[in-house]
Amino acid sequence: MLKWRKKIFFYIGGLPMTKVAIIGGGPAGLTAAIEGAKKGFQVDLFERYKVGDDIRCAEGFFDTLNLLGEPKYGVRFKVDQLELEIEHLYTFPLDEKVNIWMIDRSEWQRGLAEEAKSLGVNVIENSPISKEKYEELRKHYDWVIDSTGAPSVTSRVYGFSTFYKENAGITAQYTLHGDFSSWLGRLKAALEEHYNGYYWIFPKSEQEANIGIIFFTENDLNPWQELERILEKEGLSDYERSRKLGGICPVVRPKKLVYDNVLLTGDAAGLVSALHGGGIDCACISGKIAIECIEENNVDEYEKHIDEVLGGRLKGEKRLANLVWKLNRSITDRVVKAVHQSEKPLGEYGFLNGNADAFEKLGVLRGLIPALWKH
Ligand SMILES: Cc1cc2nc3c(=O)[nH]c(=O)nc-3n(C[C@H](O)[C@H](O)[C@H](O)COP(=O)(O)OP(=O)(O)OC[C@H]3O[C@@H](n4cnc5c(N)ncnc54)[C@H](O)[C@@H]3O)c2cc1C
Repeated sequence: MLKWRKKIFFYIGGLPMTKVAIIGGGPAGLTAAIEGAKKGFQVDLFERYKVGDDIRCAEGFFDTLNLLGEPKYGVRFKVDQLELEIEHLYTFPLDEKVNIWMIDRSEWQRGLAEEAKSLGVNVIENSPISKEKYEELRKHYDWVIDSTGAPSVTSRVYGFSTFYKENAGITAQYTLHGDFSSWLGRLKAALEEHYNGYYWIFPKSEQEANIGIIFFTENDLNPWQELERILEKEGLSDYERSRKLGGICPVVRPKKLVYDNVLLTGDAAGLVSALHGGGIDCACISGKIAIECIEENNVDEYEKHIDEVLGGRLKGEKRLANLVWKLNRSITDRVVKAVHQSEKPLGEYGFLNGNADAFEKLGVLRGLIPALWKH
């Protein structure tokens, strides 16, 4: 049960108004702000920088659960082909079951912030929330939504800030400028033999692309050296580099997602895919669920609702990732080849929604994975 806390009401036309403070103006915080304002809450959003600054992302918006739809702002194009390189290169056309858009995340987030403001949200930029300010917010608002990413401000207060890095994918990424005209509409992911992870080429326009690498398990490699090798391999070494960034993709949930009147969302809640490291969709969905729980006065059920909507997918993705990392790469290649040769569109296998069983079943049927495989 949540502890008793002093409620402060604002009155409009005699009705009490729930006061919500949101910390962080990323996908989770902005979605929560918009949804909160739509429910009639008084919402103040605190962002340490300007909304849309300091983005660390390959900018692929994955809506594989089909819960979000096309982003309202900043869309560059809908992805219609996914290239998967293992031992061989496989090109999969994407249908409406695998909805991915390339977006400009700064533009998207600024659009969301404007929308939030138009709905009455007070967006307070250049306002980092310290531990002390955090305690004040907890006293003065009915609810605080922590959407600060990883490590979250809550983790600093409760002493679990190292948890995220210990349970995260580690990334390195460049934004490159040059001729990407032949890439438009397709994304590439390549699995290599010597680490558990992959590298990506996500073009944003005919002249710009994000190229990065993620390690899902510890190794002795330097991600930047690996990225240099990959740029060489892909013939992109001479392209101009405009941004260099790294970051973590937290793939495990902290012990709790609710701390008295604080709810964790998005990366702060460890809601990132262990298969590909994407978390924009889960951030948006968790922001929405947090607001719904506040409205329905059942914050105690927040984790349960997160589980119902995202739990199966995230667990399945983890299982699929573990299976792929455990398998010999040539076996993975042959299972993917079987998928490629089949009549069924990629989306129907549900791999990007964590359908590890489909992958395993195909491997077993083809005699590539032992039937009694234990993992
Ligand atoms: C290199 C890289 C590439 C990625 N590519 C993709 C991709 O292509 N697709 C995808 O779906 N996911 C991708 N991800 C993951 C994705 O970026 C995150 O899952 C997503 O941004 C999580 O959203 P969020 O709102 O929870 O947190 P964030 O986006 O991290 O937003 C947190 C916000 O809180 C603010 N903040 C932090 N601390 C404070 C504070 N104390 N006070 C006030 N404000 C604060 C920050 O400035 C920030 O604006 C990638 C991650 C990395 C590192």
